[in-house]
Amino acid sequence: MNALDLLYQGKAKSAYLTEDPDLLVLQFRDDTSAFDGEIIEQLSEKGAINNQFNAFIMTQLADAGIPTHFVERLSATDALVKRLDMIPVECVVRNKAAGSLVRRLGVEEGLNFDPPLFELFLKNDALHDPMITEHHVEAFGWATREEMARMHELTLQTNSVLKSMFEEAGLQLVDFKLEFGRFHGDIVLGDEFSPDGCRLWDKVTGEKKDKDRFRQKLGGVLEAYREVAERLGIVFDH
Ligand code: ADP
Ligand code: UDP
Repeated sequence: MNALDLLYQGKAKSAYLTEDPDLLVLQFRDDTSAFDGEIIEQLSEKGAINNQFNAFIMTQLADAGIPTHFVERLSATDALVKRLDMIPVECVVRNKAAGSLVRRLGVEEGLNFDPPLFELFLKNDALHDPMITEHHVEAFGWATREEMARMHELTLQTNSVLKSMFEEAGLQLVDFKLEFGRFHGDIVLGDEFSPDGCRLWDKVTGEKKDKDRFRQKLGGVLEAYREVAERLGIVFDH
């Protein structure tokens, strides 16, 4: 499938049209952003790592019955995906407290949530992705009540699948963000799942193995991403 015109360029990925109106080429770039795009740096090979990571996770999720946009990996940095009508809402699940939750509510990092905590944020960098509720989603027409219920259900299902998968690899899945869209009437998981959009802590040492290494300037960002991938058994072929 040949990539044609650039459809849009996000902070970390670019989307290209293809001859098929239902398909896009998603290119994972090396750009790494933090704090709603205030800081952007290039991390060599991050695009390729995240593309392979995402392909692996999306395949696992599809095997578990979760509808995803992923079709196939085209190259080191490119993936073929279904073109979704994206819903501008970020679905976050937290198994433990970290990040914005700790800042917002003043709780201790690492506090356990069982059942997991579900939160919603509006995808809007200019407004710094404000927290919203399911009522806002319905009131502003970002998604219907039924669509919201489906996103909630699929996010929790994703958490069950991935929490055990990371657990077996010696990692705690602390939290993550998902984005969904519409495809021919169905709600489908889009965007990406990679260490850029989740928190993973080593089960034994508690060491951070995700984008917090970049946000907190801890160093060894890509080494950590690669280590997580290897622990999951992902074999890099590029
Ligand atoms: P951001 O929008 O946060 O800067 P990215 O750089 O990751 O993020 O850009 C990817 C863009 O592509 C996002 O706006 C995302 O919503 C969108 N997107 C992801 N998957 C799909 C898809 N399958 N169909 C259409 N748009 C998608
Ligand atoms: N997240 C993301 N994109 C965003 C905001 C959050 O991928 O625009 C992810 C983030 O990596 C973490 C989870 O969602 O795994 C929860 O993020 P949080 O609300 O704690 O915000 P943060 O402090 O990370 O900005």
